[in-house]
Amino acid sequence: MRNAKSAKLFKKALQVIPGGVNSPVRALKSVEAKPIFIEKAKGPYLYDADGNKFIDYCLSWGPMILGHANKDILSDVRKAMAKGTSYGIPTEAETILAEMIVKAIASIGKVRLVSSGTEAVMTAIRLARGFTGRDKVVKFIGCYHGHVDHMLVSAGSGLATLGSPSSPGVPKDFAKNTIVLPYNDLNAVKKVFAKEGDRIAAIIVEPVAGNMGTIVPPNSFLKGLRSICTKNKSLLIFDEVINGFRLTYGGYQDIIGVRPDLTTLGKIIGGGFPIGAVGGKKKIMDFLSPVGSVYQAGTLSGNPVCVAAGIATLKLLKSTKPYAKLNRTTEKLCKGITEILTEKSIGHTINQIGSMFTLFFNDGAVKDFDSAAKSDTKRYGAYFRQMLEAGIYVPPSQFEASFISTTHTQKDFDKTLKAIGNLKL
Ligand SMILES: *Cc1c(COP(=O)(O)O)cnc(C)c1O
Repeated sequence: MRNAKSAKLFKKALQVIPGGVNSPVRALKSVEAKPIFIEKAKGPYLYDADGNKFIDYCLSWGPMILGHANKDILSDVRKAMAKGTSYGIPTEAETILAEMIVKAIASIGKVRLVSSGTEAVMTAIRLARGFTGRDKVVKFIGCYHGHVDHMLVSAGSGLATLGSPSSPGVPKDFAKNTIVLPYNDLNAVKKVFAKEGDRIAAIIVEPVAGNMGTIVPPNSFLKGLRSICTKNKSLLIFDEVINGFRLTYGGYQDIIGVRPDLTTLGKIIGGGFPIGAVGGKKKIMDFLSPVGSVYQAGTLSGNPVCVAAGIATLKLLKSTKPYAKLNRTTEKLCKGITEILTEKSIGHTINQIGSMFTLFFNDGAVKDFDSAAKSDTKRYGAYFRQMLEAGIYVPPSQFEASFISTTHTQKDFDKTLKAIGNLKL
């Protein structure tokens, strides 16, 4: 694999961008690889500055469910751009996208558009606090909710329920309002609520975890969270920034029949452009300014170009109904990977749902952060580098989800399985 041009571009980037990248995982440190610089992408393929072509299983961390550079989306984006790219004044298109989201997700009566998943979470948490008049928030170890101060918090030591900052720059005073509990552990949630339920504004959870690798919890966990929140008048927030429109047309919540009070969305609903959304019951959403007093705003919120890409994406997902086929294809690929790795006696576990999956280099079941953390990350690094060398781009961390798009073909899967067969781990 050629890397001279990417290496040169990285060296230049290092002079003016911290670490040479605009989001840390792109530096490929955890897989001990050299960054690649992308020149273009089409369908399931990435092309880098050195002319290497890769089958993409990361898909910009999830948004590109219809593949890169979809011609219908691009056409609508071009039409929108020709009419000007930002007004900071309402447009009909924002209402159209909001209507599509409201129709698609049963628990959402109103929705506010923002510019990233992080912003959506930040808004949801402020809204939950404003609505309930309480400060504390429960989150789960291994779930990622963007780089919001109140979410960059790790579990306190021992029996303390006070969280501690997981990054310098997050004040201890913020972190102490975040209670961090193990994923999939309803008893831990019950205990905390028995003690301080009347001070907890919300529980936030990824209903299918994607950010410690893919983990699908039993429905009883999510249903249990729902009833605990209802009983304690706390809000349940589903962070569906990855799950939304990835597993079905709508939210994972509609598959399992659990209605959260608030939902955060991002990634797919922007069709590859920066977007986020927070939606929920009308009564709660109307606490937001200018109806209510919980402040939230954004210069580029509801940007006409992002909204055009979002509408085009959701329209295509609605009309082409790709979900059953995506699931079958992904299941088949995962089965193929398992067969080959088992034959090679390489210990592993694959968690898969719909078109998202994670290959854990780990013999045991992966159901929470502790079990995910037992994976062999050195081995994952070797897997990443060898796949890259074979022209296949998988997520550059053991603790991320792989994604498939509607543009991946059997030929791509055959090539992928052949590369898995050639792995020397
Ligand atoms: C990606 C992600 C976010 C953050 O979204 P950004 O657009 O990167 O700010 C929040 N929550 C979840 C579950 C995510 O996967």
